[in-house]
Amino acid sequence: MFEKILIANRGEIALRILRACKELGIKTVAVHSQIDRNLKHVRLADESVCIGPNPSPESYLNIPRIISAMEITDSMAVHPGYGFLAENADFAEQVQKSGFTFIGPSADVIRLMGDKVSAIKAMKKAGVPTVPGSNGPLPDDAEVCLKHGRDIGYPVIIKAAAGGGGRGMRVVQTESALMNSIRVTKAEALAGFGDDTVYMEKYLQNPRHVEVQVMSDGQGSAVHFGDRDCSLQRRHQKVLEEAPAPGIDEEARQKTYDACVNACIEIGYRGAGTFEFLYEDGHFYFIEMNTRIQVEHPVTEMISGVDLIKEQIRVCSGEKLTLKQEDIVLKGHAFECRINAEDPKTFMPCPGTVNQFHAPGGLGVRVDSHLYSGYPVPPNYDSMIAKVITYGDTRSEALARMRSALDELVVDGIRTNIPLQQDLVRDSGFAEGGVNIHYLEKKLGL
Ligand code: ADP
Repeated sequence: MFEKILIANRGEIALRILRACKELGIKTVAVHSQIDRNLKHVRLADESVCIGPNPSPESYLNIPRIISAMEITDSMAVHPGYGFLAENADFAEQVQKSGFTFIGPSADVIRLMGDKVSAIKAMKKAGVPTVPGSNGPLPDDAEVCLKHGRDIGYPVIIKAAAGGGGRGMRVVQTESALMNSIRVTKAEALAGFGDDTVYMEKYLQNPRHVEVQVMSDGQGSAVHFGDRDCSLQRRHQKVLEEAPAPGIDEEARQKTYDACVNACIEIGYRGAGTFEFLYEDGHFYFIEMNTRIQVEHPVTEMISGVDLIKEQIRVCSGEKLTLKQEDIVLKGHAFECRINAEDPKTFMPCPGTVNQFHAPGGLGVRVDSHLYSGYPVPPNYDSMIAKVITYGDTRSEALARMRSALDELVVDGIRTNIPLQQDLVRDSGFAEGGVNIHYLEKKLGL
């Protein structure tokens, strides 16, 4: 096991990783930008290193500075959290080359799954169901593109192979608009991701976003922890998640779980990962894999009782997975509300000082947050400031707990999306379960 881990992240996830390390008896190094010197995990870590000014490219995204911090602190491994360098294959490679361990899959696997075209190909090979599509990059030949469109049937969606964060996608309704849409998406992909490779998929009209959590040791063993429903999204950004996804066809679900586990073994996957699917009319369609721990991992921890970050650290230290599939018993239901420092109506970020912070509590309530009274939310980073997670024996009990928890939560001094979340957990359509990915935007009148 590692003696010391450097946490290459900030905010709630850095604190979450620090807690897991403490329980495992691992020493921690926090790295931070200038403005982040008073972050909660920086104060709690065994050591801390300021790695640069506030802009992320000069601190949290600066590979040489992070590797230097590992060298001067004698860290053995780096945990990237999510965002920043978590899915950067070059970072993983340089960490390895410098003699340290990257807590995640190998650089090659990150590259394979980071390119959506190669990811889809690998998944098909492993027997994971995918969205009907061009099965590869679109060529310059217009006739070939038009034929793909006709074979797939309109509407279709043109997606950048290197896309991410909900960008680099364009829906095409009719054949007459196809070639122009391909041209525009290619230009955007080149400008945004430095790669103009695009592919075509059937555009599913009313799918849900359902994803499968896995853990794999890269030594031939993998398990799944069931699924999560993340359909409540705004601009492809998740707002509220739950586990398990309600009302899913049991046969399709089990088949998909098995396929995900097989895929992990086939690609030699190491660490925690998520297979993202669109789910429509009882069918799962793979869209992409996230090769890291995700924001919404706590809902899975609540229904499985497994600390996913501790498991992730264990398998990435070279230990074999000791958990067997039959040991993982999913029980009850959990929700997670993401609390953002933003205007609840305009969604504009609202940084500023939190005069008072009061977290809810009680049975089945968990708050993952780096906030404290007097904490200044900086304008430089993501606006998420807390995650409120509730657990219950049933979905309705977990939801009732969330209503009560959100009413107890106080974040005074800045505007937050708490009013939006309070509204969502009282929404009758959401309470029924199984809403699709357009539900929130429709409700907001977008
Ligand atoms: P990103 O990497 O940018 O997150 P994804 O491939 O995961 O991109 O897609 C993000 C979201 O875009 C999905 O959750 C879904 O809302 C929508 N989307 C992507 N592909 C399709 C599709 N084929 N049909 C309908 N919606 C899609």
